[in-house]
Amino acid sequence: MAEPIITKRCSKCKLEKNVSEFYRDKSSNDGRFCWCKQCHDKNNKKYQHTERFKAKRARITKTYRKNHTQKYKATTILYHAIERKGFPKASTYKCIYNCGAQAEQYHHPDYSKALNVIPVCDKCHKSIHNH
Ligand SMILES: [Zn+2]
Ligand SMILES: [Zn+2]
Ligand SMILES: [Zn+2]
Repeated sequence: MAEPIITKRCSKCKLEKNVSEFYRDKSSNDGRFCWCKQCHDKNNKKYQHTERFKAKRARITKTYRKNHTQKYKATTILYHAIERKGFPKASTYKCIYNCGAQAEQYHHPDYSKALNVIPVCDKCHKSIHNH
């Protein structure tokens, strides 16, 4: 016996389609989702997109944390070098940016090289980090 053709209107795209165009859903009255397969898939893609986005954001946070730890380590090593090993204080230099000011702090161009630092004044240092 041939199955009767039952159509259903998709509540998303408003098109009337054969029920076979709808995924099965045991929890609904007629056993089908109110969105057609096409709309469902589109929605899933959107969902996957946000999942990807979340994964990307997680990666960025991880990188940030890693940099942060490195920054902390570099600062600590530098501090110890100044306090205990006679590493010159930033204030013994002039800011390398020719602003005429006395350097007040060190800038780390690369946090993995703790003692590879540039003496800078507070103003120039802030502008480096704002770039
Ligand atoms: Zn639809
Ligand atoms: Zn810096
Ligand atoms: Zn400066």
